[in-house]
Amino acid sequence: MNDPVRTTCPYCGVGCGVRAAVDANGAVSIAGDDGHPANAGRLCSKGATLGDTVGLDGRLLHPEVCGERADWDTALDTVADGFRDVINRHGPEAVAFYVSGQLLTEDYYVANKLMKGFIGGGNIDTNSRLCMSSAVAGHMRAFGEDVVPGCYADVDDADLIVLVGSNTAWCHPIVYRRIEAARAARPDLKLVVIDPRRTTTAEDADLHLPVAPGQDVALFNGLLAHLEAGGHIDSSFVDAHTEGAFAALAEARRGGAIAELARTTGIAEHDLARFFDWFASTERTVTMFSQGVNQSSAGTDKVNAIINCHLLTGRIGRPGTGPFSITGQPNAMGGREVGGLANTLAAHRDFDAVDSVGAFWRAPQIARAPGLKAVDMFEAIGEGRIKAVWIMATNPVVSLPNADGLRAALETCDLVVVSDCEGATDTLTCADIKLPATGWGEKDGTVTNSERCISRQRPFLPAPGEAKPDWWIIGEVARRLGHGDAFDYRSPHDIFVEHAALSAHDNDGRYAFDIGGLANLTRAEYDALEPLQWPVLEVIPSPPWAGERARERGWPDTLPSPPSPQSSPPVVGGRGSALSGTRRLFTDGVFPTETGRARFVAITPRGPAHAPDADHPLVLNTGRVRDHWHTMTRTGRSARLSAHVDEPFAAVHPQDAQVFGLGDGALARLETEWGHMLARVRVDEGQARGSVFVPMHWNAQTAAAGRVGALVNPVVDPVSGEPEFKHTPLRLREF
Ligand code: SF4
Repeated sequence: MNDPVRTTCPYCGVGCGVRAAVDANGAVSIAGDDGHPANAGRLCSKGATLGDTVGLDGRLLHPEVCGERADWDTALDTVADGFRDVINRHGPEAVAFYVSGQLLTEDYYVANKLMKGFIGGGNIDTNSRLCMSSAVAGHMRAFGEDVVPGCYADVDDADLIVLVGSNTAWCHPIVYRRIEAARAARPDLKLVVIDPRRTTTAEDADLHLPVAPGQDVALFNGLLAHLEAGGHIDSSFVDAHTEGAFAALAEARRGGAIAELARTTGIAEHDLARFFDWFASTERTVTMFSQGVNQSSAGTDKVNAIINCHLLTGRIGRPGTGPFSITGQPNAMGGREVGGLANTLAAHRDFDAVDSVGAFWRAPQIARAPGLKAVDMFEAIGEGRIKAVWIMATNPVVSLPNADGLRAALETCDLVVVSDCEGATDTLTCADIKLPATGWGEKDGTVTNSERCISRQRPFLPAPGEAKPDWWIIGEVARRLGHGDAFDYRSPHDIFVEHAALSAHDNDGRYAFDIGGLANLTRAEYDALEPLQWPVLEVIPSPPWAGERARERGWPDTLPSPPSPQSSPPVVGGRGSALSGTRRLFTDGVFPTETGRARFVAITPRGPAHAPDADHPLVLNTGRVRDHWHTMTRTGRSARLSAHVDEPFAAVHPQDAQVFGLGDGALARLETEWGHMLARVRVDEGQARGSVFVPMHWNAQTAAAGRVGALVNPVVDPVSGEPEFKHTPLRLREF
């Protein structure tokens, strides 16, 4: 058995540390990394079975062009020629990259730099659009920047934890274990779960509020008004550090008294009152939210309604307090750091930093305006406005709304390139060119989790077949497009230090995302990098940052000055460093807005875009099960994981099942205006009446008629562009 390699789980945004070892027969054993601050050695069922998922069966091992095996040069030349031809004839906005939270930060950085900096178009967006872009937009509205104020250690310090739209026990299990441990240690800690479904998490709560679908803003506006009415305002914080409270409160008061709020939200009046009183009287309150908040046509408003309550009570930037977005993917923050969302540029900056970033990259034709967000991007493909698309490490033919429409759009697109480690996904069936990428266990780079902690993913397996790292593939295409000098990377370390330097470039202390202190990491220090939360302002004293390589690249000299020895704690190789796992933002009450004040947002509640009607009287709500991940391309390889739930199902309230004549175990046909599927009925008393829950994971490779994405309405939040996965009118009948 080789010595274990310390790496990071590739699934959810908790970002657990993993120790992976390979024995003489090639079998992989997995254990939790007790030195990682996110999990301290714990792993959930998905992380613990990672060894089951690294086999080569079904992997994409060789490039293919138009269904024929090709060598790398031929495949890369064909990609570059195709993109060049479209750009020359139709301009840079006629091409697009659709990327993924499964990419490492270094892959993401190179893809974003190529599209925005050198192709000169804005059309790069990511599947992170589907899980947390409403949180991003809410953070930007409130704080002026996309930053998560808290950290997991706040769970240990809180006296009240509010989970909104999150089945944390199943979807972020190690965070939930931390909540359980905190409750065991301090029995007075209260847990409130706000969710239309009575999930496993809700079963455990001190108080479950089954909010009616889409009424979260009404609920938190009601809380805001209650806090004001009861005098629970931190006036000194509000006066000194915020703006806009007056308008937000005026809007919140319009929700009416608690009896009216109970009718609006569908929550019993006494439960609502209890929640309001607990929130009002508990100083150390953390509100954690996830896809149930974000995946809505009013997702950004819901995020700001939550943040408003924390601003009014001054509960932010202190231990055990704060609004906290717990995000879906392993590189939850990394893609946001590099600018992988179409509406951001790079290094957490908007397009107003275009000249500065353009100068740093030496990019003469940098994109000057945001590109199309995911749903709009695929609509543009269907309409022929985008004629070439490169999809990396994601499976949109399963995961996006109106997935059948999306597949039809790809089938009409002039050029579809897909790079993936898997060989048989629904999206690959639409590809003209298939490029084999390395997968987890082979990849080398960094990821950043929900609490802004950067961790290394390290390889412990050789790249199989002809698979190559994503950053290499993108760089080779960039070189063929004539941008070789700017993409002359020899390793992920080269990319990471450039990324770190950009985060500090022209920053002037305005941006919380500053990892400039890591810009002078040597390769050895990068390889040994311990989990580390940003901001990282400290500069490692030696060697001179990035040395010759930096001068070769002509990076500007606006990096942080070397600090005095006293203020320069070591940040590499120091397990248990004070920098790991405890870094909160806004501890001084200063926010990265123009005024330095956090912004309340006045919010008028809006319901979901499509209401049920006589034809479609139910509501489809999609989500995850405990042991599968995304479209199952990895977890589907593990028999142990598949044993938990082995086929698509539709959870239906007993009275709805009776109305539609469906017994437990019946095969049902689910129909919406956008598509249909088959699923096994599970009669479930935890379902709200009128609501049907269906997991998102199954695809045409695993259940021919089980793709729920085909049913979901392609409605998005107007601010964030995040789709409304939680609310599509539905009808149901026995198959
Ligand atoms: Fe941790 Fe999430 Fe991986 Fe589970 S799936 S081990 S909670 S990172």
